[in-house]
Amino acid sequence: MQNPALDTLAIDFDDSFVRALPADPEEGNHRRQVYDAGYSRVQPTPVKAPTLLGWSRECAALLGLPASPDAEAAAQVFAGNRLLDGMDPYAACYGGHQFGNWAGQLGDGRAITLGETVHAGQRWELQLKGAGPTPYSRMADGRAVLRSSVREFLCSEAMHHLGVPTTRALSLVSTGEPVIRDMFYDGHPKPEPGAVVCRVAPSFVRFGSFEIFASRDDPRTAKTLADYVIQTHFPALWPASGAPTREDYAAWFAEIAERTARTITHWMRVGFVHGVMNTDNMSILGLTIDYGPYGWLEPYDPGWTPNTTDAHGRRYRFGNQPAVGGWNLVRLAHGIYDLVGQAPLLQAGVDRYAKTLADEARAMWAAKLGIAERMHGGEDHNAELVGQLLSALQQTEVDYCIFHRKLADVASAADSDAILKASDGIRESFYDFDGMSKEARDAIAGWLDAYTARLREEGRPDAERRAAMNRVNPKYVMRNYLAQLAIDDAEQGDTARLTETLDVMRDPYGEQPGREEYAARRPEWARNRPGCSTLSCSS
Ligand code: AMP
Ligand code: MG
Repeated sequence: MQNPALDTLAIDFDDSFVRALPADPEEGNHRRQVYDAGYSRVQPTPVKAPTLLGWSRECAALLGLPASPDAEAAAQVFAGNRLLDGMDPYAACYGGHQFGNWAGQLGDGRAITLGETVHAGQRWELQLKGAGPTPYSRMADGRAVLRSSVREFLCSEAMHHLGVPTTRALSLVSTGEPVIRDMFYDGHPKPEPGAVVCRVAPSFVRFGSFEIFASRDDPRTAKTLADYVIQTHFPALWPASGAPTREDYAAWFAEIAERTARTITHWMRVGFVHGVMNTDNMSILGLTIDYGPYGWLEPYDPGWTPNTTDAHGRRYRFGNQPAVGGWNLVRLAHGIYDLVGQAPLLQAGVDRYAKTLADEARAMWAAKLGIAERMHGGEDHNAELVGQLLSALQQTEVDYCIFHRKLADVASAADSDAILKASDGIRESFYDFDGMSKEARDAIAGWLDAYTARLREEGRPDAERRAAMNRVNPKYVMRNYLAQLAIDDAEQGDTARLTETLDVMRDPYGEQPGREEYAARRPEWARNRPGCSTLSCSS
């Protein structure tokens, strides 16, 4: 018997991944190594008291779901308590390099795909995160805490509105069940509220999805997966013959490289630090995926990583993200080597990555600064101005996003003294304006004078430049402390702040009068509070 509220959530499922890939012959969620298979069928584990805390109407629209659903029905379905007709849930098998080391089988340890649907010509996979154990859960419980689920829900949607390729989030449901976590890994586990996020993307296939088959010397399944991914998700690259050549696979790899470069450049533009760019967290579609211990760069510091697990090596620091993307692509190249068979063909993809990064970064910096790109003899003549800025910004604590946003307001006729004296201007981006050293002040003033000289030379009207800069330098970003404020309230059952934060993030480049607090510098109380400055992987 169907209930009418559930009917409003009905979806036509069309599970292309399940059809294309071999299934694990074993069923059930007991932990195991899974060979020669792309996935294992598994059921979500029902939770005690699911409550709908968050819903993205924009994501719902992609799927043809209501903008405001029946909360009770949505909570049941998107906690995994109630399967809809046509849902055939599974967990995918993949491996990955974690912090530079091969980690073997990882897989969807706490993600369960409910199914795929095609709406308005686009394929979408719906996946619950935190819906209980799977064959890939290893030693862990398959659950997620509310704090990390709020962070993933908000940031997925914020990134979309920022124009950054990303997986999406449809819903956030609290489970009414505690999850035990040792947040600081210091031997003090405690119960925290649990939650489930339903995330949505054309596909959740990762670099590590290929690496696992290569590591097990299973080129047959690797080819099945590659052919499926190209045909379904890169149809323009699928040959009419139906039989891809080594060149076709190499062209596909180069396309992945290019998308990865574009996405990482967006991260650098908006100040996003992923925090755990392991190859199992790299989307084959070039999307930002797996929001865990990510963070927003507040004081500009290319060496900053939000992830406490990464504090020693700082492998995933802000400034290293482009390099790590390249390292990860080489791992993917190894994963698909058997399909291409010739290293130079794959090297061309790695070269494409480097070239795309350079091109995109040059364009990005010109846009962020509101100046023209200047190339002479293959050299970027803006590199010096950009380099001087970044070195000046490192001499004192300057908020990366606020600085660029305020820079748009600078009058090209002004000198550095006037610019730095103006209240509500650039000085708003300094964490301790009066306390900064003379060297820092001189470096920033020197740069501002060089910058305004350049603006006068270009002669572009200030108002036009300002509008253009404001389209690439966001005013509202998903700062860690803002997420933490929403979490603090949501843990007490109050979702007003969560809902408002999602709403603010819908228009990151606009001015939102009355909401200036969401665009403010990180307050001092948040400087060392866990969740606001650094995060552990415990989630
Ligand atoms: P991550 O670092 O979140 O990308 O996770 C790495 C691997 O650990 C993936 O295979 C996850 O599915 C798995 N994992 C992380 N947390 C849990 C959990 N609470 N229960 C089961 N598996 C988990
Ligand atoms: Mg992951």
